[in-house]
Amino acid sequence: MQRDLADFERHLAELLGAQHALGVGNATDGLNFAVRAANIGRPGDEVILSSHTMIATAAAVHFAGGTPVPVECGADHLIDPAAVEAAVTARTRAIIPTQLNGRTCNMDALQAVADRHGLLIIEDAAQALGSRHKGRCAGTFGIAAAISFYPAKLLGCLGDGGAVITNDDAIYERAYQMRDHGRNREGQIVSWGVNSRLDNLQAALLDFQLKRYEGVIARRRKIATLYTERLSTVPEVVLPPPPDSDPDHFDIYQNYEIEAEKRNELKEYLKDHGIGTLIQWGGQAVHHLKALGFTQHLPYTDRLFTRMLMLPMNMSLADDDIHYVSDNIRAFYGCKP
Ligand SMILES: *Cc1c(COP(=O)(O)O)cnc(C)c1O
Repeated sequence: MQRDLADFERHLAELLGAQHALGVGNATDGLNFAVRAANIGRPGDEVILSSHTMIATAAAVHFAGGTPVPVECGADHLIDPAAVEAAVTARTRAIIPTQLNGRTCNMDALQAVADRHGLLIIEDAAQALGSRHKGRCAGTFGIAAAISFYPAKLLGCLGDGGAVITNDDAIYERAYQMRDHGRNREGQIVSWGVNSRLDNLQAALLDFQLKRYEGVIARRRKIATLYTERLSTVPEVVLPPPPDSDPDHFDIYQNYEIEAEKRNELKEYLKDHGIGTLIQWGGQAVHHLKALGFTQHLPYTDRLFTRMLMLPMNMSLADDDIHYVSDNIRAFYGCKP
């Protein structure tokens, strides 16, 4: 935790327009720290999250001692504010929206639900560095947030890394101690903590990458535009909203997650033509994980999980590659080229 870490944390906070950014070992730890620092997790505390998220979101609640409550997402694949409201009970303490696929939720609607019921918001912004809703960056809406620098994320390091983002001085102080054995700024052990530091080496690399981050986002938005041009006339697929289609949302396209009829056959067809695709979370929503005790019935998410597919979206793709993927999807559905 040397100068490079401090520099990166400062630059990250500036980019987001946040008071504090704290480097940690990974976003999973960051979520854990955020939930604990916010004092959520007394036995019986319920925290509402989208079932279309990584298990890490729910695990943060579990390990803090609370109960994760997965709910439905909406047509944008992000948590549905109406489903959140319907899931609120006397025990609900917080909402953890996941800023999924590089898009930020409709935070006005979520904040309204939170205000009506006195709930905290903690953001899982692991996939959303630089994504905005109404000009404000993901990670700065709730009391705290976590961002991931896992290599597959837009800003990746050479292994695991993450950050806690917060505008709250007390949350920052607690997370600061938790990541390094409970040590405060003077190096005194004043609370229980763990070892979850962002290595100086990773921070130096991240700080360097941050200088070209705008270009990374621009390229991914360009790829999304190309996919839209080539695939919006295919009736069997539903595409994510293209860049600038809604002035309230600035998306960074961590993933390009479409919905497709005959999804499994399409995936096989593309594989046979040398095109790799992924189904997020291995095809399992949080509420599908019966081994962890989930019993919710979420038909919208169930159906979405039979239809969703992530098309290639990364910095190594040339425009020709996008045309090749699009040609093959059109051919699969028998559309004219
Ligand atoms: C990647 C990811 C995480 C976990 O991030 P790590 O840095 O790998 O711990 C959590 N939530 C979501 C939505 C993610 O995509």
